[in-house]
Amino acid sequence: MSAEAPVASTSSGPAVPKTVIYCQVCSYPPEYCEFNSKKAKCETWLKENHPTLHAKYYSESALEDKLANLTVEQREALDKDLAKREKKEEQKAEKEKAKIAAAKIVVKRIERNKKKYVTSVHGLHHFNIDLKKAAKLFANKFGAGATVSKTAQGDEEILIQGDVSVDVEEMLLDQEDKKLVAVFGGNITDKQISLVEDKPKKKGQAAPGAEGAE
Ligand SMILES: [Zn+2]
Repeated sequence: MSAEAPVASTSSGPAVPKTVIYCQVCSYPPEYCEFNSKKAKCETWLKENHPTLHAKYYSESALEDKLANLTVEQREALDKDLAKREKKEEQKAEKEKAKIAAAKIVVKRIERNKKKYVTSVHGLHHFNIDLKKAAKLFANKFGAGATVSKTAQGDEEILIQGDVSVDVEEMLLDQEDKKLVAVFGGNITDKQISLVEDKPKKKGQAAPGAEGAE
């Protein structure tokens, strides 16, 4: 038998310095995995990565012993820790929700030249909307070109040929049409959409606010 054969850590031989192992799923030491909500994943991880430890901690008698040996303080500490983690996750979800609630979409009617319009839709990315799918929906609905285009700010917007602002707004707000809801989410509110116009400046006309005191 080779001298290098692995020795079970439960042996009563001389103490070997052990590296502490933390569960890569929940970050507790593996003996505490069963006290968190991901414990099924924890067990799978331990079984795959540390089979010896898995056998040690997940045998029925081991589980019973451990529960019996936990002090009230230890249980309370674990409960508290778990509650803290859950709260943190909740807060994260709330934050994400608030971010989406505060996001704005700008639908802009842009006059290119005499009575020729392009409609730009900006801000859909705040709602985790797939812009390519959205552009396809617009193209089908209006029978017009709709493309995803980079903005000067480095994000993306959709450009649709034609003056379709009002219809775009209706589509974004639609909560009935399953096809639309599948892409736009069905939770955009009308307060989050502004319709604006971008008119070409006429020659010789000062930009608004540019005229000084007379
Ligand atoms: Zn774990």
